[in-house]
Amino acid sequence: MTKVLIIEDEELVRENLLELLDAEGFDVITAENGLVGSRLAQEQIPDLILCDVMMPEMDGYAVLEWLRQNPETATIPFIFLTAKAAKSDFRQGMELGADDYLTKPFTRAELLGAINSRLKKKALIQAHHHHQISQLEEKLKYVLDHDRLTDLPNRLSLRENFTRIVGNISTTSRNNHLLIVMCLAVDRFSRINETLGHSSGDSLQKIAAQRLLDCVNSDDLVAYLSTNRFAILLTSDRYESKEFYASEFARQILDRFSKSCTINNQEVFVTASIGISFYPQNSIELESLLGQANLAMDYAASQGGNQFQFYTPAFNIQSSDRLVLETDLRYALAREELIVYYQPRLSLKTGEIVGAEALVRWLHPKRGLISPSKFIPIAEESGEIFPIGEWVWRTACRQVASWNLLRAEPCQIAVNLSARQFGQIDLPNHLEDILLETGLNPRYLELELTESILVQNPLLAKQKMEAIKSLGVQLAIDDFGTGYASLSYLQQFPFDILKIDRCFVHNLSDEAKNAAIAIAIVQMAHKLNFKVIAEGVETQAELDFLREHDCDEIQGYFLSHPLSAERFFQLFITEKSNNFYFD
Ligand code: C2E
Ligand code: CA
Ligand code: CA
Repeated sequence: MTKVLIIEDEELVRENLLELLDAEGFDVITAENGLVGSRLAQEQIPDLILCDVMMPEMDGYAVLEWLRQNPETATIPFIFLTAKAAKSDFRQGMELGADDYLTKPFTRAELLGAINSRLKKKALIQAHHHHQISQLEEKLKYVLDHDRLTDLPNRLSLRENFTRIVGNISTTSRNNHLLIVMCLAVDRFSRINETLGHSSGDSLQKIAAQRLLDCVNSDDLVAYLSTNRFAILLTSDRYESKEFYASEFARQILDRFSKSCTINNQEVFVTASIGISFYPQNSIELESLLGQANLAMDYAASQGGNQFQFYTPAFNIQSSDRLVLETDLRYALAREELIVYYQPRLSLKTGEIVGAEALVRWLHPKRGLISPSKFIPIAEESGEIFPIGEWVWRTACRQVASWNLLRAEPCQIAVNLSARQFGQIDLPNHLEDILLETGLNPRYLELELTESILVQNPLLAKQKMEAIKSLGVQLAIDDFGTGYASLSYLQQFPFDILKIDRCFVHNLSDEAKNAAIAIAIVQMAHKLNFKVIAEGVETQAELDFLREHDCDEIQGYFLSHPLSAERFFQLFITEKSNNFYFD
């Protein structure tokens, strides 16, 4: 039912309108003054508002102005009712964004006419909006589903296909069907890259992609995971002879690769290594199947390449190097070897530094600075991520709370949240404790999570996110574009911020494809009410491009590398609002 809110201080008029609209089948709510009306509008989000201009406490203009400032109420059709018919009043209302103006006394037909035409227009706008989103979404879907170099399906497609195939297998006769997961890499690819140059490396990846496509059937899937990492999904009903089937297929691929190819007018001979794992007996999870096939592939490569290898658990035995790191990591916190760095974020709207992302560093006594990309995955596996992650949050929150006492413009702080941390049952409580303990106002805290965290259990993820949000903290999607999910999928989660991964930002200004994607992401994200931050901005040209296309904030080496707390604070406090990053 269409809900109409009447805001009118004269009881007689209010009752008349109520009766009239009620008889027409509208669901009518009323308010006797502007204050009550604004609050009702916020709570109930009516489909249309009829509002008197002259009212005590809060007049109609004030009501309209207030509603237009809130995203939920900004687009509600708004019709003024007034006895005043002066042109200037009319104009003032329209400038504030009123949709129509009815001068009292009006007839029943005039009133219903105005209401219906407003509702119709709103429906049209909504339909148009949906249409625009679905068009953009379609464009984005392809680019997000496919690798841009080889045009092969990427991880997102791979996961979708895997889920679909596994669904089919389990509804039919599971025991006779299997799925073979293969990983493939061109042997000594980095050497080829170094000697012949990057563009030759790219050509080689495209040739490899074509060779793989030549070998598979239409039911099979070839995907591109990352540089020189291909994956193949094969289905078979020959369960008993799976090793035979898989090795026949692998041999065929190696054969195909043994033919020379021409790159930059040079004849090049390349070989490949293949690792193989089986669903369901090695694992039923795509990520572990891929990990297993990858380990087997690395082993095949280490044996000289041009061969394939089945996964066996023996490959899991960790390298001694990793083991040492894992042990050392256990003491890193107690020995105070961890440091939090802060990478500044710049608003493209104001030209000011508005916040930072907290990034942890490990100063190892023997090995020097170790990158989080190296030790966070180890910490994730060993469980050490819990104390480490919390320490980073606590340190960053305390730091920023103290900065915010010193500066009028507060600093936003973004912290990262890894999959295992997100899985922690009492995560919201931990966060709340940290906020209370450090005294940081929750609205200045943002948690960055990646899409991959959501796909495991979307429902649970959503509940947990709601719980975190109820603390007043903001949520950001990190590395958008590298994961599995499309924007409309993400829309169901209560995100506030979207961070475009740096792979789309790189060379934005000269790479037409990247530019088109970045623009589409910004537009769509804005339609869905996300704030957009671009990561990895390294040049003035990239900054200018993003600014021109309405991106909200940037982060990247062009502005600054991650800095120690002292240096960040210097930059943050001394930076004048003089737009020195803009032309
Ligand atoms: P991330 O969250 O995507 O962080 C951004 C990474 O990009 C940082 O690497 C940063 O130094 C780097 N970066 C920033 N600007 C540029 C640029 O212009 N160009 C390029 N090429 N890179 C840029 P970093 O600090 O090595 O962190 C790597 C990853 O480690 C982070 O990726 C994040 O996933 C993880 N990480 C870092 N600190 C933490 C933490 O406290 N907790 C958790 N769970 N993960 C963390
Ligand atoms: Ca991040
Ligand atoms: Ca990121």
